[in-house]
Amino acid sequence: MELKDPDLFRQQAFVNGQWCEADHGARTDICNPASGEKLGSVPNMGRTETHRAIAAAQAAQPAWRALTAKERATKLRKWYELIMANQDDLAQIMTAEQGKPLAEARGEIAYAASFIEWFAEEAKRAYGDVIPAHAADKRILVQKEPVGVTAAITPWNFPSAMITRKAGPALAAGCAMVLKPAPQTPFSALALAALAERAGIPAGLFSVLPADIAASHEVGAELCENPIVRKLSFTGSTAVGIQLMAQCAPTVKKLSLELGGNAPFIVFADADLDAAVEGAMISKYRNAGQTCVCANRIYVQESVYDAFAAKLAAAVATLKVGNGSEAGVTTGPLIDARAVAKVQRHLDEALSQGARVLAGGQALGGNFFAPTVLVDVPPSALLAREETFGPLAPLLRFSDEADVIRQANATEFGLAAYFYARDLGRVFRVAEALEYGMVGINTGLISTEVAPFGGMKASGLGREGSKYGLDEYLEIKYLCLGGI
Ligand code: NAD
Repeated sequence: MELKDPDLFRQQAFVNGQWCEADHGARTDICNPASGEKLGSVPNMGRTETHRAIAAAQAAQPAWRALTAKERATKLRKWYELIMANQDDLAQIMTAEQGKPLAEARGEIAYAASFIEWFAEEAKRAYGDVIPAHAADKRILVQKEPVGVTAAITPWNFPSAMITRKAGPALAAGCAMVLKPAPQTPFSALALAALAERAGIPAGLFSVLPADIAASHEVGAELCENPIVRKLSFTGSTAVGIQLMAQCAPTVKKLSLELGGNAPFIVFADADLDAAVEGAMISKYRNAGQTCVCANRIYVQESVYDAFAAKLAAAVATLKVGNGSEAGVTTGPLIDARAVAKVQRHLDEALSQGARVLAGGQALGGNFFAPTVLVDVPPSALLAREETFGPLAPLLRFSDEADVIRQANATEFGLAAYFYARDLGRVFRVAEALEYGMVGINTGLISTEVAPFGGMKASGLGREGSKYGLDEYLEIKYLCLGGI
């Protein structure tokens, strides 16, 4: 890494406005998933340090809440501007610890910054209501108030955006936040904290506690069990989400859960096939297939199946796999050896059920896996039922609309779905029939700070981004005035 501002590469935790170590001095090495090279190390925080960060958040929050929304927005705007001014450095840090190509990392930094800008403005519009009363001598007012101290636990696949999508609305609403970033990607989180400090976000309002996989359980337990924390926002796997939900139950916390997906991507016979291929490329292979909204199962109508498969395989052949910091690389490594093993397992199981490889089809050494297209995949294959989280595109056949809707909905997940079609009636019918929180119609890219992001069923609770994302950090208070 050759950072313009080396001070953004922080190797300490950030608690109560102080850069600090773990109490017992424990540290964890962080390595580049492309090369295995050690990038640095971070403190391994635990339960006591988390307790302290929560207490600091509690102390800092009342003064922050007492500011006007505009005063908070001014500081958040500064944070946004600093993130954008340091976009290149932040992207380099992200590529080094996460692996995604630099161009994608730069894109994520802009996406991450957009949540801070959006929510700083949106919080100015946290309007309440005046409700016509039920009695002549009464008046009913409804106002919104910050929930208080909040906590966030985030994954490694979007090391910056998953943080700002939570911290942006929390801070804008007048809350404080204690964050535990993913063990694999602490440096992106700490760089954001360094910029928050420079932006003048008061001490204690945004603390960052790096922890390795084992220590994450301790930090997580304190965040879930401490009654001062009034809300937890989690992005990650469904299994961990369920566990955290149970841990939060005794203190009845508000929860936002952005969990796993198993997105269907449907291509109808009347679709523009070239556009569908372009959409599938973005949806499936971005971030090496490690996105929660990425196409996991591609359903293609029988009459266009072979044509679509050939076009997709040709597009996949143009992808260049390698270290994300090298020019021209479109597909970086997977996050670790376990991720490679899962993709291999899904591939092998599909092959054993009669699927055929049309492109790619093998691990490339280290954490790299060739972008792959599989045809003749039966619906019973594991990769049609489980999230693969890798660059593996299984193509399944379908006969008609009812058949594909049934298959698309036959999953516990309900995060994102996509379809390509031109018949207007079909567009409405299918969009309404899909049991998913987000539906991309003739597009493979749906994420934006202005729209509500989130899932149904086992994909989670709540929405992030948009006006709905602010509500997650606000309590509704009803005032009943009598004797008027
Ligand atoms: P993960 O659930 O293993 O980890 C996510 C975070 O939870 C990490 O910070 C991890 O350290 C922490 N964690 C794990 N066990 C914990 C525990 N017992 N207590 C406290 N914290 C704990 O998920 P991952 O592998 O990092 O991320 C991939 C998953 O995230 C995929 O399933 C993906 O679909 C999902 N995801 C969802 C969205 C969304 O918006 N719905 C976005 C990105 C990723």
